Amino acid sequence: MEPIHIMELTCQELAERLKTNYGKGMHHAQALLREIIRHGNRDFHTADEFMRSPKLTRLLSRDLVLPEPEITRIVSEEGTVKFAMKLACGSEVESVVIPMRNHNTLCLSCQVGCRMGCRFCETGHMGFVRNLTPGEMAAQVFAARFIVKKNIKNIVFMGMGEPLDNFDAVRRAIVILSDQRGFDIARSHITVSTAGLVSGIDALGRSGLNVHLAVSLNASNDRIRESLMPVAFRHSMEDIRQALFRFPLGNRGLFLIGYVLIPGLNDSEEQALELAEYLKPLPVRVNVIPLNKTSAFNRETASDDDVHRFASYLEKQGVFVVKRWSRGSRLQAGCGQLGNADGASRVQDL
Ligand code: SAH
Ligand code: SF4
Repeated sequence: MEPIHIMELTCQELAERLKTNYGKGMHHAQALLREIIRHGNRDFHTADEFMRSPKLTRLLSRDLVLPEPEITRIVSEEGTVKFAMKLACGSEVESVVIPMRNHNTLCLSCQVGCRMGCRFCETGHMGFVRNLTPGEMAAQVFAARFIVKKNIKNIVFMGMGEPLDNFDAVRRAIVILSDQRGFDIARSHITVSTAGLVSGIDALGRSGLNVHLAVSLNASNDRIRESLMPVAFRHSMEDIRQALFRFPLGNRGLFLIGYVLIPGLNDSEEQALELAEYLKPLPVRVNVIPLNKTSAFNRETASDDDVHRFASYLEKQGVFVVKRWSRGSRLQAGCGQLGNADGASRVQDL
């Protein structure tokens, strides 16, 4: 009998598998998801439904592949927790739990490394190793909830990798993670962040997934963007803007625009005006993120004052801005710092 990977199936699909394999159905599928995915109880046979069906339980014990994420490192600083998960192939991916006012956000990885090669980003410097499967993405949520023991209500695809460069698997992961009988993360609490892959933005729009879209712009014109992000040679800022015009925003309200502030490079008043002009026709919220230190990009990080100053230039133009203070940057868990194992080992392991 084919193994059943519980983290790779929606409740409906699991019910179908139980039906074909054992003549059971939705009742047991729901019970399995409740015990394993919602409660983190891998000893599902202790639940009533399975106590009453010893034969089914025996078969499931043989066929069911349970979540067993191997967490190799957990480090934390001021409530932000970074953990590394070892994959079957031996590679590791990192995820970050970010505390918010009433819940936690999980910053999820979708690839080992990244093909996009942004100069300021640690993951970009790693190069591309491989895509994650939907099950490996879901395993990060399972680990955050039941190993790191955090109540995860929000997901941002802002860890390692470019989600729109692994879109089929990311789409599938979103379907699984938003299944109300399983992980139950509302689509309105999921954000996909992209370096600006136009065909991927179109595919996300067509998918009907109805999640939030963030675009990491990081520059006010193509010349600066090209000097920071090789992907900018493929897609101009105007191409990206056209893709956003086409995108069915629905009830999600705003696009999120990421802007990593790099002193002396993209932080002048003139650039803020240029950016505001570019964004004018779009409903956006701009996140101004101070540059985090990475090993290969030899630039000063932006101070809180730099962030305030640049944000106020934008606000004067009527742009809705959120200032991000870097969290977890000492433990190399900040934006763009994932992938540097040396950095993680410098801080004390829990
Ligand atoms: N590949 C996607 C998703 C990864 S998100 C994307 O780029 O959007 C990684 C985020 O961290 C991006 O918004 C990126 O612009 C930002 N980032 C990368 N390197 C950074 C650094 N050194 N300091 C601060 N933010 C950084
Ligand atoms: Fe990849 Fe995003 Fe890092 Fe660029 S910023 S290298 S797209 S992870």
